[in-house]
Amino acid sequence: MSRIVYVNGAYLPEQDAKVSIFDRGFLFSDAVYEVTAVLNGKLLENEGHLSRLMRSCAELQLRLPVTATELENIQNELIALNQLREGALYLQLTRGCSGDREFDYPPAYVTPTLVLFTQSRPVINSVKAQTGISVVSVEDIRWGRRDIKTVGLLAPCMAKEYAHSQGADDAFLVEDGMVTEGSACNAWIVTCAGVLVTRPLSNRILHGITRKSLLLLAKNHGIPFEERAFSLEEVYSASEAFISSATSFIWPVVNIDGKPVGEGVPGPVTQALRKIYIDMALQATA
Ligand code: PLP
Repeated sequence: MSRIVYVNGAYLPEQDAKVSIFDRGFLFSDAVYEVTAVLNGKLLENEGHLSRLMRSCAELQLRLPVTATELENIQNELIALNQLREGALYLQLTRGCSGDREFDYPPAYVTPTLVLFTQSRPVINSVKAQTGISVVSVEDIRWGRRDIKTVGLLAPCMAKEYAHSQGADDAFLVEDGMVTEGSACNAWIVTCAGVLVTRPLSNRILHGITRKSLLLLAKNHGIPFEERAFSLEEVYSASEAFISSATSFIWPVVNIDGKPVGEGVPGPVTQALRKIYIDMALQATA
């Protein structure tokens, strides 16, 4: 069945959806996006995703052509039209199309382009959550405003492609010997003392919505944590490692650069935290 997608006010079969070749998202990656998980046909943590979208827009002086309520209505309409029960909702906003290729931002009357589509896939029972993933370390060559969720994602694509060429699932990005994050996820370790560690918020990483919730859940469940940068060496000697993102929730990292992390299997702290997150997610979408 063809998906119904949303483009600038219209709900269309995906093959009929069109955006201009002069769109600034296409020409300059002048666009921001969000991915929200869908569980039981409902959006998970959507408030956080929409507030991050507003922040990305504000940082780039990008105008959202609809209100937050209208946007939520569009999201829910698209989920209903596609009868999506579990998966993801992708949303992209570009600075629109001024009819030619000009670096300057177009005049304010140029309407931004808003596109949304659904993706049906298992979130709770994903295979990688059971088996864990392997990662390789690669230099973080991304730009200096990783806190803005833009569609300029060529560096993460290159990192992921490199990981696959090495027989790994994903990459941990490293800057000055310290892990920033994964190619499309936040990175975590569990020290031998059982302390969760993830990098603090700054322009060097995306401010993950799942990361934020996990820190709150860890606090509420008495799991000790530290927000600090950690080195690649610390991952090698950690007892556990994992990644977090909206659509993976938590996936254990069982191998890095060909070496097992801890016992080389999903660890108890990672599994416990995944369960805590899933319980919260199921309750929030019941
Ligand atoms: N870091 C990067 C670079 C990402 O691309 C993502 C998600 O796309 C994340 C972290 C995780 O963020 P969230 O938990 O909001 O999905």
